[in-house]
Amino acid sequence: MKESFDIVIIGGGAIGTSTLYQLSKSGANVALLEEFDLNTQASGRNAGSLHGQIQYEPFEELGIEWAKTFLHGLAILADSLAIWKTLSAELEVDLEVSSNGGLMIAENGQNMRHLEKKVELENSIGIASRMLSAAELQELAPYISKKMVGGSISPIEGKANPLLLAPAFAEAAKRKGGKVFTNRKVTAIVRDGARYRIETTNGHFTAAKVVICANAGIPALGQGIGVNIPIDDAPVQVSVTEQVEKFVHHLVYFTSEKLTFKQANSGSLLIGGGWPARYNPDGDPILNPDSLRRNLRVALKVVPKIADIRVIRTWIGVGNGTPDHNPIIDEIASMPGVYVGMYPYMGFTASPLMGRLISELVLTGRTERDISPFALSRF
Ligand SMILES: Cc1cc2nc3c(=O)[nH]c(=O)nc-3n(C[C@H](O)[C@H](O)[C@H](O)COP(=O)(O)OP(=O)(O)OC[C@H]3O[C@@H](n4cnc5c(N)ncnc54)[C@H](O)[C@@H]3O)c2cc1C
Repeated sequence: MKESFDIVIIGGGAIGTSTLYQLSKSGANVALLEEFDLNTQASGRNAGSLHGQIQYEPFEELGIEWAKTFLHGLAILADSLAIWKTLSAELEVDLEVSSNGGLMIAENGQNMRHLEKKVELENSIGIASRMLSAAELQELAPYISKKMVGGSISPIEGKANPLLLAPAFAEAAKRKGGKVFTNRKVTAIVRDGARYRIETTNGHFTAAKVVICANAGIPALGQGIGVNIPIDDAPVQVSVTEQVEKFVHHLVYFTSEKLTFKQANSGSLLIGGGWPARYNPDGDPILNPDSLRRNLRVALKVVPKIADIRVIRTWIGVGNGTPDHNPIIDEIASMPGVYVGMYPYMGFTASPLMGRLISELVLTGRTERDISPFALSRF
């Protein structure tokens, strides 16, 4: 089998399908190739948090100079969150989006002082996060432990349903003429005159331009064309509880230990925060019971009311990152017409804007927004 397109996208997660949607909307002759089914990797396994603040753990570990460089990536999240507000209507699917804000909870004065510096940086790019006293925190979120000394709120944050986003982008793209081919693992991208031949496990394709949105698969595809792209991967786990009456309206984080905590529309609580899973001898990621215990203990400490609620399932997804936590949006210098699009750790949130920026770059060779901080040459 051989199929020809103007543009081929590799990867059927949130970023690949978002890019497919934007390119299809512009009338391009475009196809997406996915190794498995759509939305089966990070985009369909994440915790559905819509992030719009600097994460506390890297802020403490990497420091303020790192945080300043991450403001470029943070601005992508903030502007993507603005798109999320109308995305359900645009894609004609209820993505279960809510944006009641994200609470970062502090348990001591030192955490509060660090949070103040973080809030100051967020404010410097127009994100209206602010500090909360213990009393303000209790008024906003009475379910938080009374032992907590305060925190901060980022009002642009929220949540959405990760099971719905990539399929919604793909369906909207198909309505505009975009093509999707699943169960095609791309094994090689080979220059063929002025075009590229894309070899897969099920036939080959040709295209004038290739967009790599393969997330965990990017380093292997990069190696195949002689480019080293340093993306790391770590399996992490997320747990879900039985459905209970709605009482959590925010996305909740904790400064002292890893935690993200929220309640889905169904009533289930989602408990995560990046606790590591482990690998079995075959190299498959599996549950780490110690991480599960610790994750639940942290959740219980911050929200004591969950003591009697049962966890019904824990799953694992592989999270991908870049060394500086900033995204990659670039054309590969040695392979003109081959592009890479990747957002580390928080790519579910970033995907609506990522699709717009990648398609703008592919179609016009430039973007109105300055994407130089996201160049491959920084590695
Ligand atoms: C457990 C977990 C929780 C997370 N929580 C959040 C959160 O709450 N909020 C948030 O914003 N982000 C979160 N993230 C991060 C977010 O899920 C990712 O950043 C985002 O989904 C990346 O989207 P993507 O489309 O780039 O990647 P993916 O969804 O991984 O899609 C890439 C696709 O490329 C395909 N592929 C790879 N190689 C090839 C190949 N050679 N040929 C064909 N196809 C290929 C893969 O099969 C895959 O489907 C979380 C991640 C994990 C793992």
